[in-house]
Amino acid sequence: MIIHIGIDDTDSPNGMCTTYLGALLYRELSGVAEPLGLPRLIRLNPNIPYKTRGNGAVAMSFEADEEAVLAIKDTVLFYVNQLADFEHENTNPGVVFLEGEIPDELRDFSLRALREHVTIGEAEEAARRAGAEYFKFKLGRGIIGSLAAIAYPLRAFTYELLAYREPENWGKPRRVNLRSVFRADEWAYPFSYDNVDRHKGTVLITPHGKDPVLAGIRGIDRAKVLQVFEMVEFEEPVAFYQLYKTNQSTDDHLTAKRIGELKPYDSAVVRGRVAGEYWEVGRHVFFELEDGTGRIRVAAFEPTKKFRNYVRKLLPGDEIVAAGGVKEHEGILTLNLEKFYPVKLVPKVEYRKPKCPKCGGTMKSKGDYLKCKRCGFRMPKKLIPVEVPRELKKKIYEVPPDARKHLSRPLVLPGGEDKLLQ
Ligand SMILES: [Zn+2]
Repeated sequence: MIIHIGIDDTDSPNGMCTTYLGALLYRELSGVAEPLGLPRLIRLNPNIPYKTRGNGAVAMSFEADEEAVLAIKDTVLFYVNQLADFEHENTNPGVVFLEGEIPDELRDFSLRALREHVTIGEAEEAARRAGAEYFKFKLGRGIIGSLAAIAYPLRAFTYELLAYREPENWGKPRRVNLRSVFRADEWAYPFSYDNVDRHKGTVLITPHGKDPVLAGIRGIDRAKVLQVFEMVEFEEPVAFYQLYKTNQSTDDHLTAKRIGELKPYDSAVVRGRVAGEYWEVGRHVFFELEDGTGRIRVAAFEPTKKFRNYVRKLLPGDEIVAAGGVKEHEGILTLNLEKFYPVKLVPKVEYRKPKCPKCGGTMKSKGDYLKCKRCGFRMPKKLIPVEVPRELKKKIYEVPPDARKHLSRPLVLPGGEDKLLQ
């Protein structure tokens, strides 16, 4: 029989990682049952505030003998009990088991958990209706992600190879030969991506926390991902590694909406007009966007770095398609910009001083008058409107890799523009 297993919310900033637990389990269970494909790393709604980093849950499926099923469940619960970080208040693990086919209704639940805000109660209700068995630890919020990960329709997917550290190295700086990462990336890009940030000259495969992950290598080509892993020179032992199939970089979270419909936790694509000049608070850049149904504040926050320069070049009246997550920021509903595409740009007009009508010299402002620098001719100040080129192109602008959401599709990948240009 087929058994699906979902695990979520076992990690915390202090050290555990659900993918680590999932990888250990996948290895262990593959000894007693036949794995059906790779384990899945499913990212859910990135705008949920209380979530552990990245909001990722893990699911895996096996073909198992009926007699083995009980032992499989025991093993999963034992691992979660042993390894989840129960100390951290925001860590509320959940485990779900489902036997047999996945009902369509559960697929819908899964997409809701990706795009909306789902409660623990709703997850319990969906699990009961689907005949799934669930186990809550502490608040058990993890059952939402566990159930959603099991049923997630992975129509579009990418891969992430996760390499793990020996426990004695957890919490110490990660040791990887940086040049080898650049070499591997040069060879595999864009089939494997996000290995490095070429503009900044930084390596992106190594996280910075106390968790057991040594490196994560992403890609759309499974063989290329594995080869990048081979090419990277690790300067500390790799305990083991696991290839995951994932909905990262799929843009699955984005849905087309009107501005009037936007609510907290949405990830949306909207089309509208820039309603006024941008303004800045601290290092964050804001502007307002409106369509026939409403108006919303749009933000390019400080971590999006040079992306903000493109936002500053927008002018009132410009029509754009904007994609991002909706959150309340200081009590105001705000679209946190991930990508934008200028559809129609208004002409940019600058007012310039005329040349001297007498000698062609340069005029200087003197109060209400203009005075020629060369011959001294004076005339009333009348400026000439000149249309100047806009500095934005008809292309999609996206935030840099280290500010990008796991789910957001990089433009370098095929289909990276689809959700905005549909
Ligand atoms: Zn003159």
